[in-house]
Amino acid sequence: MAGTDWSERGLCRTADPDDLFVEGAAQNRAKALCGGCGVRTECLAHALDERIEYGVWGGMTERERRALLRRRPTVRSWRRLLETARSEHERTARATTVTLKAS
Ligand code: SF4
Repeated sequence: MAGTDWSERGLCRTADPDDLFVEGAAQNRAKALCGGCGVRTECLAHALDERIEYGVWGGMTERERRALLRRRPTVRSWRRLLETARSEHERTARATTVTLKAS
């Protein structure tokens, strides 16, 4: 994850890299770390766009990423797709909050 702006904000920046490039049940511990990470979207998009084949990135194992790439072969930019999805989710959440406060 080194060499990217967002990577400096990743929860794993101080972790042992060997903890993220694990196999089997140890991947669940790595994925748990990603669950609370503020740059998870950027990290996952980077791994998908760069076709990174090893390690847990953005909460997904290499196997999970491969399956996702197979299901969505026409996606050209995962970064754009995931950032758009996040923006829409945030907009919906704000609208819901306003509606609940008004009622
Ligand atoms: S999502 Fe996971 S692998 Fe990516 S920067 Fe955050 S903690 Fe590290």
